[in-house]
Amino acid sequence: MRLESIRRKIKEAASLVFFGGAGTSTESGIPDFRTAGGLYSQPGVRHYTPEELLSRRMLEQNPELFFEYYRNHLLYPNAKPNRAHVVLSKWEREGRLDTVITQNIDGLHQMAGSQRVLELHGSVHRNYCTNCDYTAGLDEIMKAFHLVPQCPQCGGMLRPDVVLYGEALDSDVMHQAVQALQRADFLIVGGTSLVVYPAAGLIDYFQGENLLLINREATPYDHRAKWVIHDMIGEVLSQLSAEPSSNDH
Ligand code: NAD
Repeated sequence: MRLESIRRKIKEAASLVFFGGAGTSTESGIPDFRTAGGLYSQPGVRHYTPEELLSRRMLEQNPELFFEYYRNHLLYPNAKPNRAHVVLSKWEREGRLDTVITQNIDGLHQMAGSQRVLELHGSVHRNYCTNCDYTAGLDEIMKAFHLVPQCPQCGGMLRPDVVLYGEALDSDVMHQAVQALQRADFLIVGGTSLVVYPAAGLIDYFQGENLLLINREATPYDHRAKWVIHDMIGEVLSQLSAEPSSNDH
């Protein structure tokens, strides 16, 4: 019955927004950061933590080490959207979903067909030269001869358009995310530990009552949600998008 009432509320929503994180993509085979088996439970490189390895400072001072770690742990060029991405894109096509706000950098929402996606932390699919105006896709980075990809135009370093530790989030993307959350009357938060700021703090801009939180583990925001489901997001969103069945609980 509970799923049925959530499903009904989603159908009635005038402005539905989804806010997600790394857990949205684990069912596509991309590990998250903070659960067992995630990136933070694996050894770093030498004595560096993942935060240090994925920082602006590392990129500038030791680009070889940065790119070795980045290539081995953040690039999944063969990953495909899973049921969570597919349901969200279907809801957008049906005019039921306003915006996806994601902390992910993998581009899987767009690959599933979502158009209105705000990428708070950028994307591995966009890369740019630190020296000139050259831009490159992920393919070019994957095929690059050098570990530190070089600009074919000027020989400068190509870097991902990803927000590294020590860098600020794009103020325009943040502004659009705040606006989407302020106009939302139903917010689904899913697959995020909600401990990475300032991204996690954004959900405070949602002022409605209909907050559904779907995460495998408890989060610091569970008490704020009207409904909390500790389960796999692909499974839960599929059930919410399906027609009601007698098994609903
Ligand atoms: P996180 O690793 O801190 O937390 C992920 C959360 O998702 C955990 O609480 C976990 O229990 C939950 N989870 C994992 N699989 C799930 C599933 N199938 N269904 C439901 N819940 C599931 O991730 P975060 O909060 O997004 O913060 C980490 C930062 O790392 C983000 O800023 C993001 O940019 C980056 N990151 C991105 C990717 C990606 O693009 N796919 C992958 C790893 C990390």
